[in-house]
Amino acid sequence: MKTYGLFIDGKWIPSKTGKIFETKSPGTGEVLAMFPQGTKDDVIKAIDAAEKAFPKWKKHPAPKRGEIIFKAASIMREKKDELGSTVSQEMGKIIAEGKGDVQESIDFLEYIAGEGRRLLGETTPSELQNKFCMTVRQPIGVVGCITPWNFPTAIPCWKLGAALISGNTVIFKPASLTPLCAAELIEIFDEAGLPAGVLNFVTGSASTVGNEIVENPRVKAISFTGGVSAGVDVYTRAAKYLKSVEVELGGKNPQIIMDDANTNLAIEGVLFGAFGSQGQRCTATSRLIVHEKVYAEVIDNLVKRTNVLKIGDPLDPTVNVGPVASEDQLKTVLNYINIGVKEGARLICGGKRLTGGIYDKGFFVQPTIFEAKHGMRITKEEIFGPVLSVMKVKNYEEAVKIANDVEYGLSSSIYTKDVNLAFRAIEDFETGITYINAPTIGAEVHLPFGGIKNTGNGGREAGTTAIDEFTEIKTVFIDYSNILQKAQIEESSRNM
Ligand code: NAP
Repeated sequence: MKTYGLFIDGKWIPSKTGKIFETKSPGTGEVLAMFPQGTKDDVIKAIDAAEKAFPKWKKHPAPKRGEIIFKAASIMREKKDELGSTVSQEMGKIIAEGKGDVQESIDFLEYIAGEGRRLLGETTPSELQNKFCMTVRQPIGVVGCITPWNFPTAIPCWKLGAALISGNTVIFKPASLTPLCAAELIEIFDEAGLPAGVLNFVTGSASTVGNEIVENPRVKAISFTGGVSAGVDVYTRAAKYLKSVEVELGGKNPQIIMDDANTNLAIEGVLFGAFGSQGQRCTATSRLIVHEKVYAEVIDNLVKRTNVLKIGDPLDPTVNVGPVASEDQLKTVLNYINIGVKEGARLICGGKRLTGGIYDKGFFVQPTIFEAKHGMRITKEEIFGPVLSVMKVKNYEEAVKIANDVEYGLSSSIYTKDVNLAFRAIEDFETGITYINAPTIGAEVHLPFGGIKNTGNGGREAGTTAIDEFTEIKTVFIDYSNILQKAQIEESSRNM
């Protein structure tokens, strides 16, 4: 059994306290590795290293920074199968999705490595003669990246890649459920030749390690992905230091099926959106809103197709649904199923923890479908598990009203053949991402990703916007007139 260290100043070192924690497979209960329970002092040591490395890394030309990131992507490509298996073992998503997590990481690192040859600013005319105006991007300094467990390689790579290409040095705290995936990423970045101190990795609890990253004024920016209550806490506490903070939070994503839709395609979409990764994606489809004319047909086929999904070992390529990520996740999901039943929603599929044989070792729950009424808690709160609420509507107006009547605003989808309606939906959905005739999941790394309302504070990861949270804009004026020129001052008073 491997015991990892913290990765600080280019070296794997133990935490001073010697305290460790285990990471376990949610499918088998097997202990996969041990990690140090980091302390405040460990974070401070990491900040010291990151501060020391910053001036040199900032000066390292961005295209050269890109070369290292590109090398990390190449190493990851070679290790895709191995790392994909680690994702499935440690987090529980099925192997195709485990490899997909890694592929997304590779795609993003390749994309953002190229950003080293852009990091674009603007030029624009001056209101005065013989004067040049432009903006340039500069790194912020030491930044903190705090990530969740549901995309244990892709979300860290989105943050680390964008922070590093921009010239920052990093303190990275992974979710305590998935430190092994994160440690394997660190090994890859190290092998790619990242200089000591540029990327520092501290495992441990939210209340100790997370807290110090958020509260230490020497960490100038925080990039956080996780739940709403944690995100609000991070945002509020970091505000005291006027840190630049981006929080990417939860979702309650709707898929609408209109009466003219290709219902087979729409059902395939909702199966993937609702039960892929056991519903543990921020963009998972947790609400299905169906036009009354096709409602009976959709329900009938959806239940038939859900009932034949194979649940089991995520490493078995014939399995469709793996375990949920932890015992806490299992409890939350079962609790919400209970709430749904008590609220009077009609349980039409699943609803139980699986037991017996291999199921006893892990956290397996059946994909679950409720016929629900809008307003029930299961239709409003993020469950983050394989639980879908289906609601019947009379028309598009009612569908979109229900779709928007939640606190979140991440992803949305509509299945329709009516192009006019599709364009109306693009305008009407209160979400950061909208899919037409595709499920609510399926981000591509070269497009911005993020949400509105309580899903976040307005930033977007990935795409051309990925570097915004990690760069400061400097505005530059260059006057080559050899006279004192005064903006906004009228010509007649220019003799002063
Ligand atoms: P979480 O409990 O909020 O934890 C996320 C990360 O933050 C973990 O590393 C956690 O550490 C740390 N943390 C928690 N509270 C903290 C605090 N007060 N101060 C500093 N650090 C803190 O979320 P999760 O259960 O890992 O992930 C699920 C949530 O993430 C869902 O709500 C999902 O929708 C959301 N998510 C959003 C996006 C998006 O882009 N919008 C993407 C993926 C997931 P520990 O692990 O040590 O507790």
